[in-house]
Amino acid sequence: MPRPKFIAGNWKMSTNHTAAKELAAAVAKGVGSDSTVQVAVCPPFPWLASVAEVLKGSPVALGGQNCHFETEGAFTGETSPAMLVDAGCRYVIVGHSERRHGMGETDALFNKKAKAALAAKLKVIFCVGELLAEREANATETVLDTQLVAGLAGLTAEQLANVVVAYEPVWAIGTGKVASTQQAQDAHAFIRSKIASLFGEKAASELLIQYGGSVKPDNAAALLHQPDVDGALVGGASLKADQFLAIVAAAK
Ligand code: PEP
Repeated sequence: MPRPKFIAGNWKMSTNHTAAKELAAAVAKGVGSDSTVQVAVCPPFPWLASVAEVLKGSPVALGGQNCHFETEGAFTGETSPAMLVDAGCRYVIVGHSERRHGMGETDALFNKKAKAALAAKLKVIFCVGELLAEREANATETVLDTQLVAGLAGLTAEQLANVVVAYEPVWAIGTGKVASTQQAQDAHAFIRSKIASLFGEKAASELLIQYGGSVKPDNAAALLHQPDVDGALVGGASLKADQFLAIVAAAK
């Protein structure tokens, strides 16, 4: 069975309440009832419940950008996976490079978050990717290997069915520098082969692997038609409904 394409928008710390509702409404309107491409948006936490309302009846899914690994308690400023579910989320992004490199979060922490999110019945968009210096040192595969082995440690093949891996070369995120189609395909093929060795061929062949890093309407189609590229995690271009919808259209 061919894998479906999955386009997710990561709004990061952008929008305000009104803009978030308008953006979600425009995305929902553009997608209509067409579910040939899976679509999700990940707004900032304060707007989740309102965006969930806007998305009611739409195939566009809601996701959180982060979560804590505990279910509840004295964790000031944190949000549990169950709270995301309660707010209407079906997805959560775990391991984004802006948390790994910007907030000092580790593979071990991402592993705990992924397990907690899966236990709460969220689907996890698990991000991996190398820094520019690591690519230049020919260490891309070593870095991806470490991030996958540590980040997905202890998961079963059954749990992996609820994981999407997002390959996001850090040097391409928010920089306007996009990976070449060959660089993306090579990294995705490596990730799929690593998943096969960790979880088996079936899990690997069914795994959705998104590319992320300066995906725009003009480069989306070429990336999305690589054999191992199953979608995109979109930052900047997800903040403009017409651009995001053009990327969704390019996935068809
Ligand atoms: C991201 O935030 O995951 C991302 C890929 O951002 P951008 O599309 O802006 O590079």
